[in-house]
Amino acid sequence: MNVLYGGIRGSFPVCDERYRVFGGETTAVLLTAVSGEMLLLDAGSGVRVLQPRLSQAKGPLPVLFTHYHLDHLLGLPNLGPLWQPDRKVIFAAPLLDGRSVATVLPQLVSPPFWPLSLRDARAGMEFQTLPADVEWCMGPFRVRWIRVGHVGECVAYRIEDTGDGTSMVLATDIEWASMGEDARREFVRFLRQGGVPDLLCMDGAYTSAEYPSRRGWGHSTWEDVVAVGQFIGSARVHVIHHSPDHDDEFLEVLERKAQSYLSTVHFARQGEEVQLERG
Ligand SMILES: [Zn+2]
Ligand SMILES: [Zn+2]
Repeated sequence: MNVLYGGIRGSFPVCDERYRVFGGETTAVLLTAVSGEMLLLDAGSGVRVLQPRLSQAKGPLPVLFTHYHLDHLLGLPNLGPLWQPDRKVIFAAPLLDGRSVATVLPQLVSPPFWPLSLRDARAGMEFQTLPADVEWCMGPFRVRWIRVGHVGECVAYRIEDTGDGTSMVLATDIEWASMGEDARREFVRFLRQGGVPDLLCMDGAYTSAEYPSRRGWGHSTWEDVVAVGQFIGSARVHVIHHSPDHDDEFLEVLERKAQSYLSTVHFARQGEEVQLERG
């Protein structure tokens, strides 16, 4: 499976010369199975970066949402395949605070927030509510999910490409420190079920020095990511959801520091592509 980061910035997009290395677009991660089929995780402003690849997608495009905070939805109105008559887009998420993709997405893509309505899209569309405790299979992708600690309900996804057996976890927007012992144990069990994921992407927006003044904002620290990564033993551990306050220089220093604790840790960069192999 191939993983392409369209955007991994947290909270809101940033754009100037201080953000060239890690990028400023918000969460949008595109997975491509060995069969060539694609799956999009969240539709932040990083969708813009993914457009050339999305235009080559084969078959229907599933789009999974971790939750509905704007930084994970900003790119939705500009999702290229939505406006192509020969395409099909399948929106999916579990119920989040009682809301389904079918109720939330049309509200966002409609006047007065956007000039067009979602019902004007030229692609065929489907809205699916993911069932609890059951795997969801879409083409070559096998999907499981778990609720994580955030502000409002949010889920982490574990996606496996059944074509080559590789797997990744996207745990964006998770506040590790807010999760009790039981929730942490359950999360670790989720990570390990079906084998250790080849790639763990986890929210490490803050530093432990910043965290006390940001407690309850819904995010973890890079130190939390290192601790979970060490515990799980994934071949690749990527820190994502970089704070808009952290420029390239600052993130590079943090990355070096993190690697002194865990050699497999890496701070994800916009436009970066990762080819997963079975560990
Ligand atoms: Zn976010
Ligand atoms: Zn959020």
